[in-house]
Amino acid sequence: MSTTAAHRVLTGLDDARDDLEAFYRDLHEHPELSHQETETAAKVADRLRSAGYDVTTGIGGPGVVGILHNGDGPRLLLRADMDALPVKEATGLDYASTVTATDESGEATPVMHACGHDVHVACLATAATLLADAKDQWSGTLVALFQPAEEVGDGARGMLDDDLRSVVGAVDVAHAQHVLALPAGIVGTRPGSVFSAADSMRVTVHGRGAHGSMPQAAVDPVVLASMIVIRLQTIVSREIAPTESAVLTVGSIRAGSKSNVIGDNAVIELNVRTYDDATRQHVLDAIKRIVTAECMASDSPKEPEFELYDRFPPTINDTDTTDKVSAAFADFFGDDAQELPLQSASEDFSDIPTALKIPYSYWGLGGIDPKAYAAAEKAGRVSADIPVNHSPYFAPVIQPTLDRGVEALVVAAIAQLGTDS
Ligand code: ZN
Ligand code: ZN
Repeated sequence: MSTTAAHRVLTGLDDARDDLEAFYRDLHEHPELSHQETETAAKVADRLRSAGYDVTTGIGGPGVVGILHNGDGPRLLLRADMDALPVKEATGLDYASTVTATDESGEATPVMHACGHDVHVACLATAATLLADAKDQWSGTLVALFQPAEEVGDGARGMLDDDLRSVVGAVDVAHAQHVLALPAGIVGTRPGSVFSAADSMRVTVHGRGAHGSMPQAAVDPVVLASMIVIRLQTIVSREIAPTESAVLTVGSIRAGSKSNVIGDNAVIELNVRTYDDATRQHVLDAIKRIVTAECMASDSPKEPEFELYDRFPPTINDTDTTDKVSAAFADFFGDDAQELPLQSASEDFSDIPTALKIPYSYWGLGGIDPKAYAAAEKAGRVSADIPVNHSPYFAPVIQPTLDRGVEALVVAAIAQLGTDS
């Protein structure tokens, strides 16, 4: 069984554990915003070099790639994201962040690893080292990729635009993982959809301003925007099959300044979540169709404007790759290997395997104290009591979270590269 090779690689974890935990605490205490992950990248590059990897830095900003050749076999890419969030940490941990940084608009903001990317970095750096120390247990090429700016959705694209392809070469398969608000110890993947695609859109519609007492002289953008908001609800309810899934939320609507003034425009900001490209395109096209038609119905004097931003691709696990990973997880983790529930959040990892035209499997990792989770579950208060990713209270327990993160990376890597049969 290939888990034998995984077990042999992981015998090194006992000696590496203190360093893994110390590195995690260090990362947690020193978070960096998207596109600013230079210190994190430097620490990772040092570790990869010491472990014998050929290291390339500065890809798409602070992106780092370490490559380890070890004979014939597949070329496997393992990815971790490095960025933190503009969140003021409230966990009370003794290694909590007190860091502030300047964001892209020039504002000072507190920074926190509130999404657990510090877990991903510490686990991948350690797994890469253990695999390098046990080269007799596998054959092929390992590509350890540390990506900036996942939270803003353009870090993976940034690395690709900076010629990532020529750095990593002809990769065969890719893996990535995320720590989630599930009980620590659990590891889970699923074939097909894992994370939704996300698109934000800013829609500006134009009216004609006038005195509030003279509507005949106006094209009222408040009424126009209201019609649009209501009509947009019919996309999911009337245009998407019941077997498909989509979310369309109008999160912001701004128009007007005073009760007796009809303004001259309205700005609607909305967010769309979908799980496949066809549904995604359908929803985005339908929004434009409805907005344009409502503007015509209102006799709007000017074409509406559409601006897409904060866009994330869907994450859709390859079935064969995921079956291999699931079987290896079940073998190694037993009952702790579970099917990951479909996640409504989004990730930009898949931009990389999609651009490289290779299959991938993404899995989730529990990070919540299992006792606290069980108590919340018993009380029917999981949503209320368990802080989720991006919460200022999100605080993965160090163990078994970190061990599991390293083990999952090694077990899945050996499933692709292991030399046992
Ligand atoms: Zn996040
Ligand atoms: Zn994240």
